[in-house]
Amino acid sequence: MADDSSSSKVSLKLLIDSKTKKVLFAEANKEFVDFLFYILSLPVGTVIRLLSKNSMVGSLGNLYDSIENLNDMYMQPNQSKDSVLNPNTVNYGANVALLPPNDVVPKARKFHKCPSHNTYVTDNPIAVCPSCNNKMSTEVAYVKGSNSVKETVETGGFVKGVVTYMVMDDLEVKPMSTISSITLLNKFNVKEVGGLEEKVVSLEMKEGLLLLKASLQCKNVLTTAAGAIFFLHHSSSEELNIRLLVIGEFAMVVPAHLTAEAVNELREGIDLLLGRWSALQMAIQNEWGGRDTRQKAQQLALDIYHWLIRPAEALYVDDLENLLDDFMLSLNTEIDDGSIEEISENLMIIHEECLKVILAQSKD
Ligand SMILES: [Zn+2]
Repeated sequence: MADDSSSSKVSLKLLIDSKTKKVLFAEANKEFVDFLFYILSLPVGTVIRLLSKNSMVGSLGNLYDSIENLNDMYMQPNQSKDSVLNPNTVNYGANVALLPPNDVVPKARKFHKCPSHNTYVTDNPIAVCPSCNNKMSTEVAYVKGSNSVKETVETGGFVKGVVTYMVMDDLEVKPMSTISSITLLNKFNVKEVGGLEEKVVSLEMKEGLLLLKASLQCKNVLTTAAGAIFFLHHSSSEELNIRLLVIGEFAMVVPAHLTAEAVNELREGIDLLLGRWSALQMAIQNEWGGRDTRQKAQQLALDIYHWLIRPAEALYVDDLENLLDDFMLSLNTEIDDGSIEEISENLMIIHEECLKVILAQSKD
């Protein structure tokens, strides 16, 4: 038998800004784009089942729960709770990589036809035949067609395989071309190509589920996934020991053992420091970095957070100073009052205090 886990691996080439650890875009092949397109074809009930109702944002998880708990007697005789909870996936017969194979066979719905006419079929037990007005009482069996047609890698899925696709951090997808990538580097204001790193990552089902979850919750899906892969490769256990923390439109990956309190403490510490940094606050009030200066400052807080939760041996205060310096320059603000050094120093102190918490917890 074929090994499912190896056949569902998909590789993705990420272009990462090595300073902010943000993914600028990814070069993706057909398999990854098929996966993304497939997400859109999933019924909401299937998404909830895949992600488990407890981890759903919003209220649909409760709705799912309610339907599960509802007594069958409330359902119409031609409907079943199962058809809502395990909806048939319109997937063109293809099992797309990165998600569990579509092996949930919904409880067979019963179909009936007229005893004398073969032209009509119904799933309503009280329907009458349009030709003779008799009850359609003869049960017929439903045949799933996909097993008869063998798909090849090239003809299956949604998109053609000859093209490389470009996938942005927020999942905008388009065919790749050299011209567009140069335009992009300009758009991202990348001055030195040396500040970029290319990383080929291999995705499996656990990353696929994380991508699905992130795509519902944030605008930085690839960065989030890259963060998850980073954690996975630095974690000794096979388990996905991380969770998504969503702040506004952006998500970040945090170690699962990091308590919400510790995360909040670090976040609050960063916000407090940035809030007291008069140069930054002036830049925000006067919109020196454009109308979205406040949004940029929020992103800076996230970038600092990301930077601080890197492995401790990769943290140098100089790098942090550069990060802050570059950020202020991007707001057209040059700082030489020593405040960058002071803020960086304080951030390192906050980090150290938070690290104690992490270390104490990981020893348990
Ligand atoms: Zn009939």
